[in-house]
Amino acid sequence: MSLKGKTAIITGSNSGIGLGVAWEIARSGANVVLNSFTDRDEDHALAAEIAKETGVEARYIKADMSKGDECRALIEQAGVCDVLVNNAGIQHVAPIDEFPVDKWDAIIAINMNSAFHTTAAALPMMRKAGWGRVVNIASAHGLTASPFKAAYVAAKHGVVGMTKTVALETAEEPITANAICPGYVLTPLVEAQIPDTMEKYNMGREEVIKKVMLERQPSREFATVEQLGGTVAFLCSDAAKQITGTTISVDGGWTAL
Ligand code: NAD
Repeated sequence: MSLKGKTAIITGSNSGIGLGVAWEIARSGANVVLNSFTDRDEDHALAAEIAKETGVEARYIKADMSKGDECRALIEQAGVCDVLVNNAGIQHVAPIDEFPVDKWDAIIAINMNSAFHTTAAALPMMRKAGWGRVVNIASAHGLTASPFKAAYVAAKHGVVGMTKTVALETAEEPITANAICPGYVLTPLVEAQIPDTMEKYNMGREEVIKKVMLERQPSREFATVEQLGGTVAFLCSDAAKQITGTTISVDGGWTAL
């Protein structure tokens, strides 16, 4: 389905999954708003490249998703929001009794609270437009847990719960809310975990990828940002009109185990 004339805001989209989703949604015809907390020339250049290659309007708006007022300001500044993709996220790994409080607070704020603020600001715009899609990029960790990821698992389970509530509150309107739950996708967020894991297990890079990371992913393959973008595009299609309040796993079988 063409999303021509629609505008999609994707939080945390100057890298990884968010950027992949922005490209895929732009290829479907929607104008896109990219975001992160930096304001560098290369951030704006990403939007310019998408606009040039796909012919849609693309903008980059700086907003720190750890701050509620900036989350809301992002939506207000964009002025229109037909598709909201809550994607910004960070990770920190530590046993719970050693988990740094500032890391806990940052993960809960960026990975969960930001979706509350952006959704609250975007729903009135969707209602006015008579159509809307909220897509939250949760995680396999929104459905299951791993040790040492307490904050991330708590935030992602929270996002899945919030998604269901938003779906119920909009159930009789032409708006849907769903969460996508990826398994491992090779992005900077995952790359950053490789060196520590290599040291911890005294393994090489490929061994860590196959034996530690993809050990949980039965397909033994990373999901790709293009596959995530395609899933968001599907949720924006007419075929997905009755899909609301649920999760779609893109995890190579992880949560089937
Ligand atoms: P990434 O590090 O490549 O991207 C994270 C994005 O969030 C970046 O654009 C970053 O700039 C942005 N961001 C971080 N802090 C921010 C802040 N304070 N304000 C605004 N933006 C901020 O990582 P990714 O793997 O692409 O992760 C994207 C999302 O997908 C996250 O929510 C993550 O939890 C989720 N996810 C990733 C994987 C994976 O294997 N990569 C698996 C499941 C879920």
